[in-house]
Amino acid sequence: MTDSEKPVREIRINPIVPSESVLVATARSMRPKKAEAPAPRDTRAHVDTCPFCVGNEAMTPPAIATYPASGAWEVRIVENLYPVLGDDRENPNLTFGLQQTIDGYGRHEVMIDHPQHGIAVHEMREDHLRLLFAAYQERMEQLYKSNPRLRYVLVFKNFGPAAGASIAHTHSQIIATPVVPDNVQLEVENSRIYFEKNHRCIFCTLIDEALTFEATLYDRESGEIRRKIDVGQFVIERSRKFIAIKPFASRFEWEVHILPLSHQSDFLAAPAEDFADLARVMRRTMARLDAVLGGAQYNYFLHSVPHAPAFGDCGPSYHWHIEICPRTSIPTGFELGSGLFVNTVSPEVAAGKLRAVAVD
Ligand SMILES: [Zn+2]
Ligand SMILES: [Zn+2]
Ligand SMILES: [Zn+2]
Repeated sequence: MTDSEKPVREIRINPIVPSESVLVATARSMRPKKAEAPAPRDTRAHVDTCPFCVGNEAMTPPAIATYPASGAWEVRIVENLYPVLGDDRENPNLTFGLQQTIDGYGRHEVMIDHPQHGIAVHEMREDHLRLLFAAYQERMEQLYKSNPRLRYVLVFKNFGPAAGASIAHTHSQIIATPVVPDNVQLEVENSRIYFEKNHRCIFCTLIDEALTFEATLYDRESGEIRRKIDVGQFVIERSRKFIAIKPFASRFEWEVHILPLSHQSDFLAAPAEDFADLARVMRRTMARLDAVLGGAQYNYFLHSVPHAPAFGDCGPSYHWHIEICPRTSIPTGFELGSGLFVNTVSPEVAAGKLRAVAVD
């Protein structure tokens, strides 16, 4: 048994958000929560009845934007027909006792990622992905500019029935909200605290550790090796400008994060010429996940510094990233009741398996 195959049972603390911890328990006994084999994803190229397919444009609200701007579209943004937030609902905040509310003001849009119905990200051309990231960036910027009440624009993608995608046609969603979501707020605030203490961005530190750290942790009493940290143990992909990392405290078995190697807090300020590089890292990472999982169904989302006055000083401390969370299990009562994520695959082993995939 090699070191990395030893069973792991430990609680790992998320370095960015310490209140969020993960029980990494690779023992078989932890496994009954595995989901049934997920419903297969829809791989058809064209579906006559699909509102997002080419030729069916009349079935959606008119396009807010298309990319390219003229000719056949490759990416198309439309209003979400079933928005979770809508800008026609500018209600004053209503509060009664402990029943606090913030009105559901905001925008909810759908970005049709590709004309081809069931195409997966790793099957898309890199120049297409580059266009998709540019579209994310442009639409986020427009939404922030459209109304100063919007404090956060979240871009995310649900892919496959196991990840909650209700329309099979590949698409992303953009939600602009008057509040900064808790997850982002915690990351931003904690990284600001880290920066005040250490004068460094915690994400940059994490990247440096992933790239250069090598250590052996010994048990103090027995002197036995508790953990060996190898160079690049958590690195899945690396290019000139981006890195894909398996987080040490991964909440999901196959979770991977993609970050720019150089410090950048705001996705909106990412240079367009870097998107070719991001496209390559994204495609290759997705190809690895798809190969290891036999068809990845996942959520991914983009975290970038919020455009709200309270976060004006977060430029040096926050670092934008994409979190990819493949869905391979369903949370149990233990997870919901404790708030502790349970991960049954050691992140080191998962990273090794992902790295071992041959990708073209
Ligand atoms: Zn379709
Ligand atoms: Zn940084
Ligand atoms: Zn994040």
